[in-house]
Amino acid sequence: MKKIALFAFAGIVLLLAGCAPAAQSSETFAMDTVISQTVYARDNSILIQNYDTIRALEDSMSKTLEGSDVFRLNHAGGQDVVFSSAQTAQALTGCLELARQTGGAFNPALGGVVDAWGFGTENASVPEQSQLERLLAEAEYTQVRIDGDAVNAGKAQIDLGGAAKGYALDALKITMDEAGVENALVAVGGSVYARGGKPDGSWKVGVRDPLGSTADFLAILELADSCVSTSGSYERGFTEGGVYYHHIIDPQTGYPVQNGLISVSVVDESGLKTDVYSTALFVMGLEQGLEFANSNSIDALFITEDKKIYMTDGFQYEFELINKDYQIEG
Ligand code: AMP
Ligand code: MG
Repeated sequence: MKKIALFAFAGIVLLLAGCAPAAQSSETFAMDTVISQTVYARDNSILIQNYDTIRALEDSMSKTLEGSDVFRLNHAGGQDVVFSSAQTAQALTGCLELARQTGGAFNPALGGVVDAWGFGTENASVPEQSQLERLLAEAEYTQVRIDGDAVNAGKAQIDLGGAAKGYALDALKITMDEAGVENALVAVGGSVYARGGKPDGSWKVGVRDPLGSTADFLAILELADSCVSTSGSYERGFTEGGVYYHHIIDPQTGYPVQNGLISVSVVDESGLKTDVYSTALFVMGLEQGLEFANSNSIDALFITEDKKIYMTDGFQYEFELINKDYQIEG
């Protein structure tokens, strides 16, 4: 009798072990960047569901994919366009709100200017000044109107490249809520979602060394139930006449931002906010960015080209500096 009970007990333990979530991992490519996932789940189907979520957003928010919502808007010649995805409208609405809040430092209507530079294409080069001036005059996010499901961008060219990866993290939250996943770490390029706290504590997220290679970390950040996005001048750019031109544009000049910053990271529950704010604070520069972040309770980390690290008052996360060439200020 005792033996039978023991066997039955062992059976239950085995059954439970078979069902226990285990780490499922994958590395794939979408949104022009690497998607790396570690998800605690019973099988790996969630990896595909998450990937599909990201691909669907790319299909509606891509600037270059013919037929996407953003492509149709940018080719509508000032006419109304009906979006096929409610998520594109939601992301664009969020971007416009944050554009207003950041005084246009984040400008989702800079598509024409960004295209003129050709970052990441074979035609990357410094545009003519007259072309930049004409495109800047059209980069008016205040002209964009969203009325129900009809959107009108006037002459502006919409570019959600500075926000889509972060928005994707918010969509992954919904996908993983529905799948009952509790713990996951998903990186969509420089935007990372730490869901739960790993079964045994916090997730450790590497902050890239902006002056190193893709594998070099500057620091390790411990996060639980948060997103972090990093905007860096290293992400995308080209060299012409010995000068490096990167992809984060000063909406005042149409030129890549040159203010001594090389990366900005932002932590928040909202992926969209982390992505938008990291770009916006980069544009604002160290002094104005720190002030804006502190007064709006944004948790941010700024890194300068002279290897100094600055944190906002609220940036109280476990932070381990790996590369001791950098110095924490303040
Ligand atoms: P991120 O890597 O999130 O900082 O986003 C940079 C991308 O956003 C660029 O590759 C452009 O597509 C776009 N972008 C560049 N400058 C700005 C800006 N000032 N506001 C909004 N989007 C921008
Ligand atoms: Mg961004």
